[in-house]
Amino acid sequence: MKDIGLTQRQKDILEIVKSSGPISGEEIAARLNVSRAALRPCLAVLTTSGMLEARPRVGYYYTGKDASNLVVEHLKQYQVGQIKAVPAVVREHTAVYDAIVTLFVEDVGTLFVVDDEGCLQGVISRKDLLKTALGAADLTKMPVTVIMTRLPHIITINQEDNVLEAAQKMIDNEVDALPVVKELPGGRLKLIGKVTKTTLVRVLAGLVR
Ligand code: ADP
Repeated sequence: MKDIGLTQRQKDILEIVKSSGPISGEEIAARLNVSRAALRPCLAVLTTSGMLEARPRVGYYYTGKDASNLVVEHLKQYQVGQIKAVPAVVREHTAVYDAIVTLFVEDVGTLFVVDDEGCLQGVISRKDLLKTALGAADLTKMPVTVIMTRLPHIITINQEDNVLEAAQKMIDNEVDALPVVKELPGGRLKLIGKVTKTTLVRVLAGLVR
């Protein structure tokens, strides 16, 4: 896991700075027997990712953060509310057939079932739909409530929660998506967003922006 995604040259630079920092760019270049210009892109990656810092007249030094704990730190900065996406929803009376159409039209992998007030009732994954489609039932007549995973079995997340917590919940419960909910007086859960594995990949991709 350590230093994942680094090129060999970036790893070499990291080792030199770890053992001899603070050290100037010229000295690193001399040790690697390359030009200062050739090192520039590598140093840029290592400084923007936070592994190295550069101080004028001091040189480069190691911050003590390797790639794996930087990923954790990066994720920790975000609350679920900042990265949540718009959920695709269907109603309790929606037929399984129409839910499948919605899955394609909305280009998603998970549908959320809500009541009149937008409160969460159920979750339907693409495999729930596939499994039902393999059966003999008339999909135009069967409501989604028959096949959905319902409360209290739904794993939810709040918008104040940390993104890492959302990631952990998805891993622990082996699900691809979590509904972001806000508890209303009386305990009903208003659906206000979703966090999916795709959302997490987007946040991670921000690392290299
Ligand atoms: P797939 O079934 O397409 O692999 P998931 O792994 O997300 O997708 O879903 C696995 C099962 O868990 C499905 O039966 C689905 O209804 C259910 N499920 C999906 N998301 C949740 C959730 N947030 N909480 C509880 N159950 C869920």
